[in-house]
Amino acid sequence: MASVQRINNFINGKYASTENYLESLNPCTEEIIAHIADSTTDDAKLAVQAARQAFPSWSRQTAAKRIHYLNRIADLIEARLEDFARAESSDQGKPLWLARTVEIPRAVDNFRFFATALSQSRESFTQHTSAPNVISYTTRSPCGVAVLISPWNLPLYLLTWKIAPCIAFGCTCVCKPSEFTSVTAGMLAQVFIDAELPPGVVNLVFGVGPRVGQALITHPDVNAISFTGSTVTGYHIKKAISHLPVKISLEMGGKNAGIIFNDADLSKCLPVLLRSCFLNSGQICLCTSRLYVQREIYDEFLKKFIAEVNTLKVGDPSDDSTKMGPVVSKEHQHKIEKYIEIARQNGNEVIVAGIMDENIKKSDKGYFIMPTVILNVDDESKLMTEEIFGPVVCIVPFDTEDEVMERVNKIQYGLCGCIWTESLGRAHRLATRMECGTVWINGWMLRDLRMPFGGVKDSGMGREGYPYSEDVFTEIKTVGINI
Ligand code: NAD
Repeated sequence: MASVQRINNFINGKYASTENYLESLNPCTEEIIAHIADSTTDDAKLAVQAARQAFPSWSRQTAAKRIHYLNRIADLIEARLEDFARAESSDQGKPLWLARTVEIPRAVDNFRFFATALSQSRESFTQHTSAPNVISYTTRSPCGVAVLISPWNLPLYLLTWKIAPCIAFGCTCVCKPSEFTSVTAGMLAQVFIDAELPPGVVNLVFGVGPRVGQALITHPDVNAISFTGSTVTGYHIKKAISHLPVKISLEMGGKNAGIIFNDADLSKCLPVLLRSCFLNSGQICLCTSRLYVQREIYDEFLKKFIAEVNTLKVGDPSDDSTKMGPVVSKEHQHKIEKYIEIARQNGNEVIVAGIMDENIKKSDKGYFIMPTVILNVDDESKLMTEEIFGPVVCIVPFDTEDEVMERVNKIQYGLCGCIWTESLGRAHRLATRMECGTVWINGWMLRDLRMPFGGVKDSGMGREGYPYSEDVFTEIKTVGINI
């Protein structure tokens, strides 16, 4: 049995203990792997104070110096990539190969990307001449102390996607990672120490959202909040700070559609859909959970898709042949099971697919859900309108372009979607009409960090990426000079 780590807060460049600790479990073995600081309002205050004290000097730091720190942090995470990947896999349940090849490298890229972006950006520029003897330009100033709140599904990847632009643009921050997956964020503290990042620039406090998270978002000395998590929490935060002059960016839930037209190349589409529906056990905000298939190819598609899903091996995340690990927690497993139960009660067809690892089956441990396909579902069903956030996909037929667009857009979420067709005109037409932040044509997760990332409707407010994150962490100012 692996040793149990203690994850302490990291405030003003130093580790800080708390009175109480939460247990963090490995979702595959159900063993306790860490004790996480269960922070209080007082801990939140200390962290904000440290970030506030560090702000004047950090915000005046030269871009070259900030770039140096970002690159140093990237190098240090990269040097410890295997440790981070193993920790992420045992904390969250994702396959080790996924953490090793995608998620931890992406955390490294997040720092390098914003370091490069900063080196290319112009601090100020001439905007236009409004009169013969007036020149106007804009400048951007870091907005102050930011609170960065992240969820459990891509722990390090999403937290660093916030830390990197925040400190690149001269803000200081207090991070509140998810209480379910805090281990790799805890490991970041040592990276910051080894990078000799000035104390207080990045502070980490751990614990429960409604306690320490709530104390952070309502702290009067906070200037910006960047949140990724569920829609319920996002709207709660928006409401809680509605009377305060705080900048806010919300990246929230999704219920993403995939539309497969009868001219789609199924040989290309099926392997990608398998990933888009089941990668990380369907626990990626961008995962596809509603598939609309044009009626002429519905039967053929279903047969082929289910055959593919049946090849998915579910089991131990540390085994390289595992395609799907457990879901993150017992609570989340129960939530997903409830949706599958609703489908059964509704009389929908429920197909449980995949291959369960024999050892896991025997051990009877772990929060596993087999990949599940649901058919004959009404558009109004909760299964088609609510975010399940697990390895569950609903498949329904459609007839025409107009009809499918109306049905896809009918729900309140709008994070992303994908369209499979060989018709260029239709792809462009529908990409414009789809109500969401990102549309992929004949692909999925084709992420380019220079593109704006975010959702519409109940999926979010604001955009991340470069230069978009700059709007969250800086204030733009107009200067007019009479010359
Ligand atoms: P969650 O909303 O339960 O928690 C997210 C974070 O908010 C956690 O750190 C939690 O402790 C904190 N929190 C909870 N209550 C708080 C409060 N009152 N004040 C301040 N902080 C509080 O979400 P989750 O279950 O951790 O994550 C899954 C959700 O995240 C899904 O809905 C998923 O779609 C969404 N998500 C969205 C994106 C995106 O980019 N749009 C990316 C990943 C995940």
